[in-house]
Amino acid sequence: MKKIKVLALGALLAGFSISCQKDAVTADNQELTKEVSQEILSKLSSVGVDPTGAKYDVMVLPGGETREVISVSDLNFAVDELKKMADLAVMEDGLNRQYRTTNLVSSSRRTIDILGFTGSGNALTSKMRTALQWAVNNYNRINTTLNFRLTFGTNHTDSSIDMVVYNNNRSGGGGSAGFPTSAGAPHKYIQINAGTDSFNTNVVEHVMTHEIGHSIGLRHTDYFNRNCDGINEGDGGVGAIHIPGTPTGIDSSSIMISCFSGNEDGEFNGNDVTALEYLY
Ligand SMILES: [Zn+2]
Repeated sequence: MKKIKVLALGALLAGFSISCQKDAVTADNQELTKEVSQEILSKLSSVGVDPTGAKYDVMVLPGGETREVISVSDLNFAVDELKKMADLAVMEDGLNRQYRTTNLVSSSRRTIDILGFTGSGNALTSKMRTALQWAVNNYNRINTTLNFRLTFGTNHTDSSIDMVVYNNNRSGGGGSAGFPTSAGAPHKYIQINAGTDSFNTNVVEHVMTHEIGHSIGLRHTDYFNRNCDGINEGDGGVGAIHIPGTPTGIDSSSIMISCFSGNEDGEFNGNDVTALEYLY
């Protein structure tokens, strides 16, 4: 099975035991320095994320500034933001369908300015830039009220920038992102692992489109039973609200499937489009 092979490779490269490509964030230089508290673990649960494997991680922004985050799978949570999200939590059913988080991009933000980072140290490769353009085209091609505007540059702290996509220089394929904030802003920083560049442009497009999907509120379509490792990321919380019109069961061709293969075409399937057009 090609998917398993690619995932095994990712895990090998990353020295990481969980075989999800998008988990393939290298652990090599990220020693755990403290345990995640019970309070944080229960907040993760209450927003619908299984806290298993949650760890503190240092997210390095373009330019070198660092932020401490709680990292689970390919998702990063700032601690204070997680607390706000948990406070908003309400129980929802946990059936096997396409899911979104409670927080979505607010209706006052219809133009999403994305910066593809080109500054030294964290520049997207030329393949990544092409793939990011294709990913943005995916979102602009469907019938939603969102309009994504892509520019390339270095000014990631500019307040007009909603999302920054950058190369985190980590090995293994995949990336990481987060969910919209309690204030209705998209998740800002999307990290693409340097190792993703070894895949073809369509696969990189898939990773870009997937991480942008998280950043505007999509969860993994197989969050309850990940296609590559069977892990249940958690249900029953505010972070797993079914999107009407999407199917039950694992939707293996969804852009929001948790793990990717080397054969991805980078495109939405029909259910992804239904989900996005319903939400936005
Ligand atoms: Zn993901």
